[in-house]
Amino acid sequence: MKNILNKRIIVEIVLMVCFVFTGYTISVKYNLHAMFESEFAEKRVNEIIIVFLCIIISFVIFIFRRWQDVSRELLLRMKAELHVENLNKQINFILGATKTGLDIIDRDYNVRYIDPEWQKIYGDPKGKKCYQYFMDINEICAGCGVKQAFDTRKMIVTEEVLKKENNRVVQVTTIPFQTNTGEWLVAEVNVDIRDRKNLESALEKSYKNVQEMVDIRTMELNMRNEQLQNEIAARKKIQQELEFSNRELEETLWKLERAIRVKTDFTAMVSHELRTPLASIRESLSLVLDHTAGSINEEQNELMQIAKRNVDRLANLINNVLDFQRMESGKLEYNIKENDINLAVKEVYKMMHQLAKDKGLQFEIRIEDKVCLLRFDNYRIIQVLVNFVGNAIKFTEKGSVIVSTKFYGKDVYGRDKLSQNDLPEEFVLVSVQDTGIGIKKENIPELFDRYAQVGEMTERKTGGSGLGLAISKNIIDAHRGKIWVESEFGKGSVFYFVLPVR
Ligand code: ADP
Repeated sequence: MKNILNKRIIVEIVLMVCFVFTGYTISVKYNLHAMFESEFAEKRVNEIIIVFLCIIISFVIFIFRRWQDVSRELLLRMKAELHVENLNKQINFILGATKTGLDIIDRDYNVRYIDPEWQKIYGDPKGKKCYQYFMDINEICAGCGVKQAFDTRKMIVTEEVLKKENNRVVQVTTIPFQTNTGEWLVAEVNVDIRDRKNLESALEKSYKNVQEMVDIRTMELNMRNEQLQNEIAARKKIQQELEFSNRELEETLWKLERAIRVKTDFTAMVSHELRTPLASIRESLSLVLDHTAGSINEEQNELMQIAKRNVDRLANLINNVLDFQRMESGKLEYNIKENDINLAVKEVYKMMHQLAKDKGLQFEIRIEDKVCLLRFDNYRIIQVLVNFVGNAIKFTEKGSVIVSTKFYGKDVYGRDKLSQNDLPEEFVLVSVQDTGIGIKKENIPELFDRYAQVGEMTERKTGGSGLGLAISKNIIDAHRGKIWVESEFGKGSVFYFVLPVR
């Protein structure tokens, strides 16, 4: 720019000389100096005046041109300065907003430039080395980025802790560059990374926490695992023991079943084998008692009667045992069809009244005519009735035995007085009431269990198998009926069964 300006000044001076010479030549040629003749007498003086005038004019033009140049240059400079100032402001604003500091350091660690924000904190850097200025120390920092940048001529990134700024952590990017005079400098861009560091340490902390939690959880899981393994081992041991005792149990069960089977088979065989000769004895006794085999005296008759009663008892016992075994093995079959319950009661009366009479008991049947036809196995229901009446006579020394039947519909009076509540909608109630020895309250619940009599209840004085009531319950259950007893010890009992009307 300056060169160009110099050349222009030389050209203009040459033009000025040309102008003066041309002016002088023209004035001589056209005799212009005559204009001043009146005032100046001498021609030479006039010529000098013209030359002088030419010089003044060209000088004025030259000055004007210079003034133009200077004012243009001034304007440009002002504009440039304004632009730089704005730029500076913007840069400072950005640096301030991003908490970024900027400085320039030379080879001898002198601070050549420091941005105003930093100057406010660190003061004037004049005469101070960068390490003195920033770090308050008298030798270059360990791992100094400035030195590395100068040595390698490459950009270096380091992290610094600024003690003067309450240990603020900054990331320093040191960029080497060369000025137009060939001098090497470095620019340091310091970016505040406190937030990032805080975030990093928070992250690290939470990572540590998570890690700790994971460790604890893993430890717990390992412990639980160990516990589980122990439990599994203990369970396995128990299982093995169980399997072993199961096997033992199965073996015992098998032995027991075999023993029961042998016993049952044996009982069945014995009972069966006993029935035939008993039937023959019974037949023979009947023939003697009927006098078919000739006449017998009173004493003989009585002895025969005793023999027949015992044979009957024995036959009854054997029948009960056989029935019970059939029931247990589910082999007892029922012939259920329409039958008249009153007829069944009457038949039992015929069969048993002599027995009651022999004991001097009053034996009565109170049947309700409206009792309708029912579906039942006549033979088995008679068996239940014989058992009830037989027991009543057996356990009654004086008084009465009364058999009654009664129909109960939905709304029949007295239905609610029955001790049982889950009875069928319509049914016939059959009861056998006696005035005998009665049954103790505590013995009632197990009365219908098999061998119930076996025990202290009647002390086997009366004989019997103790199977009669169990068989009766089984028969009534098979008819979907109900069976129960109400009794008062010492006063008498009432045995009931119910058959549903279907
Ligand atoms: P058993 O054939 O021995 O009579 P049951 O099963 O018919 O067997 O009767 C079981 C027991 O119930 C009887 O031994 C007796 O103790 C008692 N029992 C049954 N009916 C009566 C009754 N009417 N009065 C008193 N006790 C009875």
